Amino acid sequence: MTDLLSLTPDAARAALADWLAGGAAGAGAGAGHAEPGYRVTQLVPRLWQRPAGSWEEATDLPAALRSQLAAAFPLGRLTLATTQLSRDGTEKFLWKLADGEAIESVLIPEGKRRTLCISSQVGCALGCVFCATGRMGFRRNLRPSEIAGQVRELVVREAGAVPTNIVFMGMGEPLLNWDAVDTALTILNHRDGFGIGARHITVSTVGILPSLAQLAKRAEQFRLALSLHAPTAQLRHELMPIEKKYALPDVIQALTQFRRRVTLEYVLIGGKNDSLAQADELAKLARPLGALVNLLPLHPGGAPDLTPSARPRMLAFERRLKRHGVEVVLRRSRGLDISAACGQLRVELEARRKVRPQEHARVE
Ligand code: SAH
Ligand code: SF4
Repeated sequence: MTDLLSLTPDAARAALADWLAGGAAGAGAGAGHAEPGYRVTQLVPRLWQRPAGSWEEATDLPAALRSQLAAAFPLGRLTLATTQLSRDGTEKFLWKLADGEAIESVLIPEGKRRTLCISSQVGCALGCVFCATGRMGFRRNLRPSEIAGQVRELVVREAGAVPTNIVFMGMGEPLLNWDAVDTALTILNHRDGFGIGARHITVSTVGILPSLAQLAKRAEQFRLALSLHAPTAQLRHELMPIEKKYALPDVIQALTQFRRRVTLEYVLIGGKNDSLAQADELAKLARPLGALVNLLPLHPGGAPDLTPSARPRMLAFERRLKRHGVEVVLRRSRGLDISAACGQLRVELEARRKVRPQEHARVE
């Protein structure tokens, strides 16, 4: 059995062609099928372009072929456990995996854009103090079929539901699962995959240097967001334990490998990283890189003992960066009423704790 959905489209095509021709991969199962070339062009689109829920559903194929395909190449599925729709249109999906683990994706509509925020791991080992996924700890890496599967399931449910944009900002650290993320990026972008433009796909990372270099080497123009959250190594260390392994100056240096503009993510935490002096420090990092700074309100579900910055402070921080000539966007928190941030739905289901309405009010 081969998990075709964990292969790149080119490798999946080759595996199918080999099987149809009765080659080694098929161990004879596919032997005898005439016109393998023609068949392959029928089968590959059912993987991602017009994805079949199962081979049985691909009724344009002969019944005998369908059952042989089902035996040789079972199409793994993610089961929708819960979906929640926010008042602002944000939709959250909790998926159950074959081994009973759960991950989540969040769909954020914004004008003509439909951005899907996807997970790369079950949990996360890195323990950033503000993050709900971090609190959960690490369970396992996702397979490429489980990463790209978060898109596939939406398209199986509704043809034409391919998101316009993808961000790796769900659960997990994508660059600690590089091999699977590498393949998933190809599936998302490839014309025989989902055909999403590389510039519409963003990998968010705390800066895992070896795989950051691998990502920088890819020819496609995938976008990078670095989760910075602190302008000095000392404060970053307090918020993000990974600072011990990959130090801020080295991470900033590594960003220069990207021939394209990077985004710096900065979650504003009241009294921690939101002073004007810290904005000045942040500008010193962002300016030479020509980076875009994304300021995000802290989502209160991640850390009970941290508070979001007050709105006037966020605005002052933003103004200060602008005065330094830094391009900056102050994001709204989306989907607060459905806990739509990093790992929160799963944590909530497990802990049965809802983010309280008064916590929402502080950042809205
Ligand atoms: N591990 C990767 C990608 C997943 S986290 C990373 O850290 O970049 C995606 C984004 O959500 C990161 O920028 C992260 O800092 C942010 N995030 C985590 N917890 C948050 C919270 N409580 N409020 C707001 N943003 C949060
Ligand atoms: Fe992991 Fe990212 Fe959460 Fe940090 S912010 S614990 S790296 S998922």
